[in-house]
Amino acid sequence: MPLADDFEQLLRGAGLRVTRPRVAVLGAVRQHPHADTESVIGAVRGDLPDVSHQAVYDSLHTLTAAGLVRRIQPSGSVARYESRVDDNHHHVVCRSCGAIADVDCAVGHTPCLTASDDHGFVVDEAEVVYWGTCPGCAAARTPQ
Ligand SMILES: [Zn+2]
Ligand SMILES: [Zn+2]
Repeated sequence: MPLADDFEQLLRGAGLRVTRPRVAVLGAVRQHPHADTESVIGAVRGDLPDVSHQAVYDSLHTLTAAGLVRRIQPSGSVARYESRVDDNHHHVVCRSCGAIADVDCAVGHTPCLTASDDHGFVVDEAEVVYWGTCPGCAAARTPQ
């Protein structure tokens, strides 16, 4: 896997031990943005056929806690994971099929983190979900 060195550096940079499941999970999340746990397990098994569910769950948990992976969970969806972290980007979700795509902050760099009134809280994430209909579902719905 050509990116493995990159992932090892990420893990070490976050103070984490380099393990094969962690490297494989990082790779799977990088290749399948917004994948749910089952999809991540499927992708990881492509690299590590013997990996246990538990090892993948544990890796996802550790990587999320370390900030290397971001966990999102739109209402009505299972948890999903992505490797695009630290930019507070948002998501657009299809109400019909659940498709998810990234949406950058509307103006400049993470302006949504500047709350109009933070009530004294230290804000580190603003979760914005745009709900709508994806092009595929919209096309399927249009009467022919
Ligand atoms: Zn859709
Ligand atoms: Zn995303």
